[in-house]
Amino acid sequence: MIAKKKTAAGRKRGKVKPARRLNLPLKGGCHCGALRYRVTAAPKDSGYCHCTDCQKTTGGPTAAWFAVGAGSFSYVKGAPAVYKSSAWGQREFCGACGCQILFRPQKRARTVSVNAPTLDRPAAVPPRRHIYDSSRIAWFDTKDDLPRKPRS
Ligand SMILES: [Zn+2]
Ligand SMILES: [Zn+2]
Repeated sequence: MIAKKKTAAGRKRGKVKPARRLNLPLKGGCHCGALRYRVTAAPKDSGYCHCTDCQKTTGGPTAAWFAVGAGSFSYVKGAPAVYKSSAWGQREFCGACGCQILFRPQKRARTVSVNAPTLDRPAAVPPRRHIYDSSRIAWFDTKDDLPRKPRS
């Protein structure tokens, strides 16, 4: 069902335009510059996550993420601090400035979910959908007609 929606959205002109002009590798890092990373493949997916783990670990109302193959993501400067945020995954963040870079599932981590605002050019990777909309904070919403899922 989701795949159909994504395909339909992809056909609409202008909806996914920025992703097609992506200049790889994508580069990003934390606020203080201690952590820098590189992404060598185009994101497979992207969206807003409204889950409470993202809220509590970022300190923001939502996390704008994009998913890439774990092998396409690498730190090029510094090593992240790690926090196990649930039984199924961990958050990697800068131990100096606290900026969260990504979520990594712990078992068979084929993909990582990178926090898009940590990109040097976050506008290049727009969110395509909402997940965990059932735990979205009532006073927070975005003005869009992207698909919404109550959970993942
Ligand atoms: Zn930092
Ligand atoms: Zn989340």
